[in-house]
Amino acid sequence: MELEWLNSQIVDGLSELVLVFDEKGDILFGNQTAVEKLEYKRDELTECNMTQIFRQDFPKAGEHAPTFDRSRIEGRGELAMYRKNSSCFPVNARVLPTAQADVCVLLAEDVTVLRDMKLRMRELKEEGQENLRRRNEFTANVTHELRTPVNGIKGHVSTLLNEVQDAEQRRTLDIVLYCCENMLAIINNILDFSKLETGKFTIEEKEFDFYQMMDRVIATHSAEIHKKELRLSVDVDKKIPQFLIGDELRLVQVLNNLLSNAVKFTMAGSVSVVAGKTMQTGDEVELFFMVKDSGIGISPQEQDKLFQSFSQVDASITRRFGGTGLGLAITKQLVELMHGDIHLESEKGKGSTFSFSVKLRTNQQADEKQNEVYVDWSEYTNKENTEEETGLLQFGEPENRAELKKRMDKLVLSIEMGAWDKAEMLASTVKALVEKSDDDIKKLVLRMEMAIRKCNYDKSMAMYENLKAAISERIGEL
Ligand code: ADP
Repeated sequence: MELEWLNSQIVDGLSELVLVFDEKGDILFGNQTAVEKLEYKRDELTECNMTQIFRQDFPKAGEHAPTFDRSRIEGRGELAMYRKNSSCFPVNARVLPTAQADVCVLLAEDVTVLRDMKLRMRELKEEGQENLRRRNEFTANVTHELRTPVNGIKGHVSTLLNEVQDAEQRRTLDIVLYCCENMLAIINNILDFSKLETGKFTIEEKEFDFYQMMDRVIATHSAEIHKKELRLSVDVDKKIPQFLIGDELRLVQVLNNLLSNAVKFTMAGSVSVVAGKTMQTGDEVELFFMVKDSGIGISPQEQDKLFQSFSQVDASITRRFGGTGLGLAITKQLVELMHGDIHLESEKGKGSTFSFSVKLRTNQQADEKQNEVYVDWSEYTNKENTEEETGLLQFGEPENRAELKKRMDKLVLSIEMGAWDKAEMLASTVKALVEKSDDDIKKLVLRMEMAIRKCNYDKSMAMYENLKAAISERIGEL
């Protein structure tokens, strides 16, 4: 049959297989790609029938050769094409009509590579999921096994503490207890993280007393805050219902993590906690919390990776403060599970503000029970010295001078003892305290900070003396 409309030169150049066939399925033409892929010679191909090439779709019925039916290969997408040697490969095929009514063209693209890639990707995904499952199972087992002995140590040490009178021994036991608590916190973090990763984490819905919860959270940190001589301010919106329904434990975990970080990374100044009600529709209440500190702060580049797992803003921080870098990753996921968001605003050397929202429910009945016995936050709030007022402290004011003197004394001690990490942090708080002073004093602190960073005792001391002299000159003897 003449195929005048077919430009075999062009068709031969195509990367797709092209087969021209008649209504009986006899092949009239195969392009170069078809010849190569099907491994027939060109004249052999034109002696074949489509039922041989697509033998899966036209199975033999007893003695008789199968009859060709175009509809079986039309509009089916992926088909198997058989080579001369009876092996096959997958193709994406289309059947198109031609100018001749009884002649059609099949265009087929070999998708072996694509299919292999898809298969490989599926395998890799399954492998990944299996690895993740195994890892989490291992983590769950190990953390569980670790928790048991640590709890054992804790129990025995607590008993000993009740019996021992000697102050030095009690101090040692206290440290052991403290280490156990830390270790348990790390173990729990790892366990939580692995549960969150596999979506096995569930949020409880139970009624709790919000004010009692806040009281406990604040009390947990107040000793450390006091020890570090930081100012604490707590501001809780009294419109928040006393009884709420939600996961108290997880809300406490979020607050504890933010607060312990705030305290950990603040050497001087203040830590403040704000809790407010932002919305109430029906029985749904949205709460907003803010944990603010005047600590070492976090640079914009570091902020980006902060909520990812295992991220600590720099390796030296791990050495300095310990931790696994899981806290904020867990915090973010917990907040999201409680239908909220978490944000961070921070400036290096000036402090950080973490704010988050969560949605809880309120029980109307319980709400009516709400009495006026609120926790006395004034116990924790130092009204004369709130964060805002501290921020307005002018360089040279009596409070500023007293604060500067205290920090400078600690600074020189740290330099003398070679406690460079601490000295660096103290230098940054001195910088914050002299923020409202003239430029040359600020420059002096900066240069001293750099000398400290390079751990240069002589230079640091010299810079310290210069700084002290410059400050004394402006505001009188320190
Ligand atoms: P970790 O459990 O190790 O403390 P987090 O996820 O809680 O881990 O915190 C990760 C890192 O983020 C910390 O190591 C610290 O570098 C930084 N960071 C978190 N909170 C603060 C903060 N309030 N001030 C300064 N840096 C912070």
